[in-house]
Amino acid sequence: MFADRAAIYVKSGKGGDGHVSFRREKYVPNGGPDGGDGGHGGDVIFVVDEGLNTLTDYRHIRKYQAQSGENGGKKNCRGKDGEDIILKVPAGTVIKEAESGKVITDMSGDNKRIVLLKGGRGGNGNQHYATSTMQAPKYAQPGQPAKELNLILELKVIADVGLVGFPNVGKSTFLARVTNARPKIANYHFTTLNPNLGVVDMEDGNGFVIADIPGLIEGASEGIGLGHEFLRHIERTKVMIHMVDAAGSEGRDPIADIYAIDKELEAYNPEIAAKPQVIAANKVDLIYEGENEIISKLKAEFEPKGISVYPISAVSGRGVKELLYHVKNMLEALDDTPVIFEQEFFPDQMVFEDEPYTVTYSEENNEYVVEGPRIEKMLGYTNLESEKGFTFFQNFLKQTGILDELEALGIQEGDTVRMYGLAFDYYK
Ligand code: GDP
Ligand code: MG
Repeated sequence: MFADRAAIYVKSGKGGDGHVSFRREKYVPNGGPDGGDGGHGGDVIFVVDEGLNTLTDYRHIRKYQAQSGENGGKKNCRGKDGEDIILKVPAGTVIKEAESGKVITDMSGDNKRIVLLKGGRGGNGNQHYATSTMQAPKYAQPGQPAKELNLILELKVIADVGLVGFPNVGKSTFLARVTNARPKIANYHFTTLNPNLGVVDMEDGNGFVIADIPGLIEGASEGIGLGHEFLRHIERTKVMIHMVDAAGSEGRDPIADIYAIDKELEAYNPEIAAKPQVIAANKVDLIYEGENEIISKLKAEFEPKGISVYPISAVSGRGVKELLYHVKNMLEALDDTPVIFEQEFFPDQMVFEDEPYTVTYSEENNEYVVEGPRIEKMLGYTNLESEKGFTFFQNFLKQTGILDELEALGIQEGDTVRMYGLAFDYYK
């Protein structure tokens, strides 16, 4: 099945913990610290694979996790780095944070490889913490935690021109005639189920890409019918060709159809509705000479709005060239920078917490209390008697936002902060 949207979960690797150990050698009584560093956790990386054109694989497997770094060992043994996980996506995939729907990155243009989530840094072994006053440091740095994210992947094809219209007006026939694409053409209403892309080769060598957006029907923007699935593909296009059945061969009113589709586009995304349009009045081979009332009506209705009407026959080829040249001129008059979705969500700026902690004020003891599994773990790793260890712990308090929380609770210079068995005086 064609899939152009997928919801997945990704997680980078945790950094390995630094190790605490001391040299044990014959005849050397108090060996120095020799705890090795932890390895770095693997990254979550996205790359564009030109051979892919759907997100189908991500419908089957939804969880992706990079490897964690190994912990450091004794004898200065550094833990192995975790392996990265590399996820291949088609060009034009937009990656969003699932909860907010904000764009993290747009895998189009030159953006072919991105480290979406960094693995956690490995922690320093205790060998790094020896000082002149502390020669046997009993702490090592824990590895940084893994990062995780729920993502939405959306494929938005890269095309200059979007072809829209009700089913059976001749979109696929037109695409097959003017491009190298070979879409299915049929006289029933459920034909094409994926957006077909085709390249129009112009004589001057500058072609353009047309995307046939199938299944646009009334109610599509509310998710009724198939159209909704495909509307995202026209977000990048610059010009829209509205195709109608000018012969009214299925008893449709072309003017009402154009307004109905415009309404759909408007409801989905007003920016799409505002794109320059041209009307292709198709199937004129079915209209008897002199009986082109529909064409006149279309022109009277839309040309005053600056939308040209081109009578064509996708089957006989009549009028097709004129339409293509017009589209080409429209494209040339427009800014030719590609439509790229801007980053709105920054995974690097997320503060990930593996484990919870709380910051509270105890009125009874007139002290501030910081506790929780994360704090406990940190204290276990840290030798607060050493200068380096204390600095390390202070940085941890700053980075996690604990200092900010204490400030927010109204802490003053000289107040007491309790963390499990330890009490500190608070100074800025
Ligand atoms: P789509 O649903 O818009 O992609 O429409 P198709 O391209 O599948 O065409 C629907 C039907 O209309 C098919 O039977 C086509 O052969 C027919 N058709 C398409 N273009 C023309 C045309 O210019 N003239 C005539 N007579 N029939 C056409
Ligand atoms: Mg079709």
